[in-house]
Amino acid sequence: MIIGVLALQGDFDAHRRRLEELGAQVVLVKKPEQLDQIDGLVIPGGESGTFLKLLGEAGFEKLKQFVKAKPTFGTCAGAILLASEVENPPQAGLGALNIRIRRNAYGRQIDSSIREGKFVADLKRQLQEPGDPSSRKGFPLEMVFIRAPKIVRVGEGVEVIATEGSDPVAVRQGRAMAATFHPELSDDTRVHQAFLDLVSNGKRS
Ligand code: GLN
Repeated sequence: MIIGVLALQGDFDAHRRRLEELGAQVVLVKKPEQLDQIDGLVIPGGESGTFLKLLGEAGFEKLKQFVKAKPTFGTCAGAILLASEVENPPQAGLGALNIRIRRNAYGRQIDSSIREGKFVADLKRQLQEPGDPSSRKGFPLEMVFIRAPKIVRVGEGVEVIATEGSDPVAVRQGRAMAATFHPELSDDTRVHQAFLDLVSNGKRS
């Protein structure tokens, strides 16, 4: 299983380390054609407007095709890129997740914080038994928020897989998954493991 980490800017190296720790083979993706060689992609945090600039139109289109076809996990700025609607200010999204997301939603005073939320750790089981309510139990999870966006609308077909207070902070729709926090900065490996489960699940079906 080869996982790509988009390495144009942002904290891609922490994702690489985490994924390798979990046994994945990791490729740092700097060129659009590298997308053809990977089974799944992580889009890290950073600055989503800068990502758009660095991708350019051709890179954006190639990435759009990729996220339709293969599992992708976006964190923070990566979550913004995967959304169908972006506000504050509006900008293009890849449309892999039917969500509306608000950039820098927490204001200047509390723009970065560590909070405890709940995560559906057993995503693998949930993928196999989508109707089983017991698999939806949340487990406490440390969440690092850095100039985080907020998911302000969860559209049809989108499943909330983590919450903080009453806010959805991680979601999944088909092969796309996103978190508004930074799981690569906490010791807990379950969020990345859930993504690797999603990738291996996709390889089987
Ligand atoms: N504030 C950034 C943006 O709007 C996201 C911050 C992050 O990725 N840590 O793109």
